[in-house]
Amino acid sequence: MPPELLYTSLNHAIRPYLDAKEQARVKQAFDLAKQAHHGTKRDSGEEYLAHPVQVALTLAGMELDADTVIAGLLHDVVEDAGVSLKSIEQTFGSDVAGLVSGVTKLSQVQMKSPSFFLPAFLQRQATEQQAFERQVESLRKMLLAMTDDIRVILIKLADRLHNMRTLDAVRPDKRARVALETLEIYAPLAYRLGMGDIKGQLEDLAFPYVYPREYLTLKQQVGEQLAHRETQVKHFQKVLRAYLESESMVVLGVHGRVKHLYSLRRKLERLGGDLAKVYDLIAIRILVPTTADCYQALGLIHSRWNPLLGRIKDYIATPKPNGYRSLHTTVFGLDGEIIEIQIRTPEMHEQAEFGIAAHWQYSEGKHAAGKAQQESHSKLEWLKELKRWQTSLKDPNDLKAALKLDFFSDQIFVFTPQGDVINLPAESTPVDFAYAIHSDLGDACVGAKVGGKLTSLETQLQNGDIVDIQVSKHPTGPKRGWLQFAKTQKARVKIKQHFNLT
Ligand code: MN
Repeated sequence: MPPELLYTSLNHAIRPYLDAKEQARVKQAFDLAKQAHHGTKRDSGEEYLAHPVQVALTLAGMELDADTVIAGLLHDVVEDAGVSLKSIEQTFGSDVAGLVSGVTKLSQVQMKSPSFFLPAFLQRQATEQQAFERQVESLRKMLLAMTDDIRVILIKLADRLHNMRTLDAVRPDKRARVALETLEIYAPLAYRLGMGDIKGQLEDLAFPYVYPREYLTLKQQVGEQLAHRETQVKHFQKVLRAYLESESMVVLGVHGRVKHLYSLRRKLERLGGDLAKVYDLIAIRILVPTTADCYQALGLIHSRWNPLLGRIKDYIATPKPNGYRSLHTTVFGLDGEIIEIQIRTPEMHEQAEFGIAAHWQYSEGKHAAGKAQQESHSKLEWLKELKRWQTSLKDPNDLKAALKLDFFSDQIFVFTPQGDVINLPAESTPVDFAYAIHSDLGDACVGAKVGGKLTSLETQLQNGDIVDIQVSKHPTGPKRGWLQFAKTQKARVKIKQHFNLT
């Protein structure tokens, strides 16, 4: 697509919700990106500029603020095109510069880390699998810990989404690694942030690269079922809508949604592979104006079609930890076929698709902040970890504070030379790191290399550091002085034991 057309579609996306002044800033960022990436091509042979514009388009699709869209346009100009953060700050302000620098920082972490992406990841033993899962969990946390503004993660997710869409053009060995990383780190992150839409897309894009044979089999199986189910569901949709309206309900929409393939794979794993037991291959989604309408619709549906026992789920009264709300039920349809129905309001729907990005919109006051939304804010269980984030959400005016994260400010994540992530309290030192790995390593340590450079044992470690402990051939045990800077309980206890101080 020529640059002019790219800009036209971006402008089209931001015009409905950004004012003329903000639109002009976005144009200015577009011009800078165009100039910076001039003459550069993607692996796909496309103009490089297409990439940041697609990222900005995804962000604009979530109606994120001008700074985020601008940072999306500029997210690769520092690393790939040598534009300085200072000049970005001068032109676009410190917020944009902070976002761009945050995204740049995150991509550097990944380059250092992923030696745990072993080629044998598919045949891992149970214990290895557990270790692997701990590692990816730590990596997800680390990405968050290195982020002081949630918008950085949103840009990173949009970036990953477009990279996944164009992954085919990338070298085969790199493809599998990027796809696995997407599946294990970025998709779960999107899920935790309640962004069902991006999560589903990332997973389905990664699936064929990570499990190619399984993907083909499942796709074929589903294809056969789908054609048959689609006709059934379409017919039921019509009857359902007419019925609810005949009971004088306002129905804003009735849609069939086809289950994402990767989430189907996960479900099949739980069900022992039996596709016939998956009742929500296509589910029907009903949108009604209010929460009360949701319950009324559920009652009406149950009075006409028999619900399947144990399949009624009230995610409005008890939302999922990531904030998802809806009523789910499964009924015997017109010819006794089993059909899942999901009932929600438009706000609940938007939140299920865009998650934290939708919350951001509400806190901006772009949409009327009704009582239902206020309630939902306090129910984002997972986000309780984001202490400040959550408190500030209660005050929609305090947007800046709401976007700052420091929920892991008391923890750091560092790497072993093998790429394992070790989670330590903030201000930990190489001594803490050594004892965290093994007490023998702690007792034997005499020095440390941090990022390849020899450093003293009392150096405070930073997020993302790679720490290589130097040991003596003839260990003399820990030094008493270490107690002055050792931070973790484990290290302190071991040192004290050595000197009989306990
Ligand atoms: Mn990028």
